[in-house]
Amino acid sequence: MEPVLGWRIWNLRGGRLESWAVDYCWETGENRATCLAPHRRACRESPGLHCQCGFWAVWTPGQCLARACAAAEPPWHVMGLVVGWGTVALHGREGFRAERAALRCLFTDRPWSASSMPRTPSRLAGWWRRTVGRPPAIEPAERTLARDAGHLDELEAVAMHYAVPLASLRGAADLGLLSELGVPQAQIDEAARLATEAAPEG
Ligand SMILES: [Zn+2]
Repeated sequence: MEPVLGWRIWNLRGGRLESWAVDYCWETGENRATCLAPHRRACRESPGLHCQCGFWAVWTPGQCLARACAAAEPPWHVMGLVVGWGTVALHGREGFRAERAALRCLFTDRPWSASSMPRTPSRLAGWWRRTVGRPPAIEPAERTLARDAGHLDELEAVAMHYAVPLASLRGAADLGLLSELGVPQAQIDEAARLATEAAPEG
């Protein structure tokens, strides 16, 4: 079977990418799945037929984002592209589970994050403080920006560790990185659309 491309999200912890559902830290280059299913006998080969093991990815960036949730951060969530090969279990329109997988690209976008929402103008925050006598519950923009800058440094370090490009969805779509990686045009359009929707205002 031809290698398949998929989108997924990791936890970024200690400069490494960790799977969500199982205790697994991704390696640089090739990753080989073993069955980590709890409370049952491990599959002889992964991905097992009636199991959830193997390296998961979904077909589209939209499906991928639907799984992310800002409330669970930190650990930070990072979105990226993977290639899967070897034995691949296809899950219809959702995605696949692969025996072998490697990271292809990481993205800086966090469209699920509150910090990519329009920020509270400071004049309004000042008015709120005077009127209510305490600062607004919404995080001040400066602190959000500082936190995001620190996050970007961490992302650059992790992309370097895994030796993959780090790009924004918009940049990867516009500069041809996604098509170079073999992403179908429909998904490139979807990625560009998601990036536009998530762009901070002002
Ligand atoms: Zn299994």
